[in-house]
Amino acid sequence: MSSVAVLIDHDRGVPSVGAFEALTAARTLAADLGVAVDAVVLGDDGLFETHGAEVLAACAEHGAATVHRGRHPFLADYGPDAWGAALAGFLQAAAPVAMVAAGTDRGAEAMAQLAARADLPLVANCVSVSVAAEPWEITRIQWGGSLLEDVTLASTLPLLTIAQHSIEAETIPGGTADINLADFEPDLGPEVQRTLVRDRVTLTEGITLSTSPVVVSGGRGVGSAEGFASLEELAELLGGRVGCSRAVTNNGWRSHSDQVGQTGTRIAPEIYIACGISGAIQHWVGAMGSKNILAINIDPEANMVTKAGYAVIADLHEVVPAISDEIRRRRDRPAS
Ligand SMILES: Cc1cc2nc3c(=O)[nH]c(=O)nc-3n(C[C@H](O)[C@H](O)[C@H](O)COP(=O)(O)OP(=O)(O)OC[C@H]3O[C@@H](n4cnc5c(N)ncnc54)[C@H](O)[C@@H]3O)c2cc1C
Repeated sequence: MSSVAVLIDHDRGVPSVGAFEALTAARTLAADLGVAVDAVVLGDDGLFETHGAEVLAACAEHGAATVHRGRHPFLADYGPDAWGAALAGFLQAAAPVAMVAAGTDRGAEAMAQLAARADLPLVANCVSVSVAAEPWEITRIQWGGSLLEDVTLASTLPLLTIAQHSIEAETIPGGTADINLADFEPDLGPEVQRTLVRDRVTLTEGITLSTSPVVVSGGRGVGSAEGFASLEELAELLGGRVGCSRAVTNNGWRSHSDQVGQTGTRIAPEIYIACGISGAIQHWVGAMGSKNILAINIDPEANMVTKAGYAVIADLHEVVPAISDEIRRRRDRPAS
């Protein structure tokens, strides 16, 4: 049966959240087209041995009918050329009706490689796709999220990436009970090893800014690097991470890895606490995926305040420690 194929973007066998957001979006697309939705996972024997069962289960949970496993020693780790070439081989052999990937760094890079090799157009960062008529009508995010663009796509084989956090990954009750496995061995020459991962240095241990369920972020209103101590304390109490605006990184108060926004990290936590952040569009595009936003600001007209679900109009230096004190007080209270 023909299918919409989804590249499962993974890091050494651990799929990105975006991969299942893309699979969820592709389910709707496949239903509209009256075809199945398949997953494509690339790796070597070792990777499938250690992570294969988990990835397969996750693909089944998210509704994939078939998992195509591309196995090759050159796919032991991520490499853009190798992934692009493997996907090009898959396209030729399996002939899906469309190919979708997450709008992650790897997803976008691998799909760009594929598009160049297959000489096909790629529409990146899609937030909605209508296949009701030819050509397909697509809305995509441009300019780091500050622009929504309506485009049409006329292609023999549409290639799409799905904007991260534009849709929530959804499992289907019971998953795909009888998921199929289809192995293929891509024909990869040594030239695909042009970019190889040689070494990796993990800059952040544990939960990262992009995966943290709670982010306590500070802006220029925090006033200094030292001012972040109370935000660190609150983030720790809530099991979250500290983020910041670009005004903060420009001042050298925090490192760029903490920056939320267009030129920082895009986040989608359950709770975003924005302290002394005005909510400029370049910041907002990184934070708008948050499920709940609490703004703490002295300016009731600040963008962040008007966009937030909850706001406290007061000095953050009083409010943030008061929240921490209250959390501690409630936690220390003996159960009645
Ligand atoms: C190409 C480009 C890319 C950019 N990318 C990013 C990006 O990725 N991320 C990003 O954040 N910005 C980005 N910016 C910068 C962005 O335009 C804003 O300048 C920046 O977000 C402002 O940071 P801020 O909200 O901390 O500071 P400000 O805009 O100065 O706001 C400070 C806020 O703190 C409040 N405040 C002051 N004192 C207190 C207090 N004691 N208690 C409570 N509230 C207080 C004020 O009322 C104000 O709302 C980018 C800009 C450009 C041009």
